[in-house]
Amino acid sequence: MAPETARQIEELDLKDGPLILCDVDEVALHFIAPFERHLLAHGFELVARSYGLNGNIVRQEDREPASREEVRELLLGFFDAETGNQQPVAGVAEALGELSQAAEVVMLTNIPERHRQLRSETLARHGMPYPVITNTGPKGPAARLLAERADGAVVFLDDSPSNIRSVGAFVDGASLVQFIADRRFFDLAGPIDGLSLKANDWPAARNFIVGRFGF
Ligand SMILES: [Mg+2]
Repeated sequence: MAPETARQIEELDLKDGPLILCDVDEVALHFIAPFERHLLAHGFELVARSYGLNGNIVRQEDREPASREEVRELLLGFFDAETGNQQPVAGVAEALGELSQAAEVVMLTNIPERHRQLRSETLARHGMPYPVITNTGPKGPAARLLAERADGAVVFLDDSPSNIRSVGAFVDGASLVQFIADRRFFDLAGPIDGLSLKANDWPAARNFIVGRFGF
């Protein structure tokens, strides 16, 4: 885990009890749709052949896949330009608002630390005034530190299979939810060992979490 991520977690004021660790991109805020527009504006296109970005972004001119470095630059360019403009997924603010009355909600997001403040403000503007922790790489180590701090049942929501596997490996007993707002990518996502729920809408995720915590 990056020292910056550990520092942010140490600063959190977390109550003991149930903890909801929620990803932002494609879970709380739409990511794929605005990222596709960003790609088109830069001569690239997203082709929904499999779940993930690498290999699925092609240069429009010759249909060749973008390199890993190009994907990285396109992503960073997107966050530089669009972090403040991303729109909420339907029902997320209502669901988290209700759940936050009985559980701690922490947004755990893989975005450069320099965008933390704007991401936090964007979420708050859309009714999600929860702490934002920025992470780099697989989320298991950060999730484990957060789980130790909260000392209660943990639900983790993310669209990324690698983050879900990582948290499954690091946090014993965590309930793992794969949430993908984009329907095409939801349909493409394959099975994940240990997954509790694969969801495409917030009412379903909310019902699962209520049942899991026994509210
Ligand atoms: Mg995400």
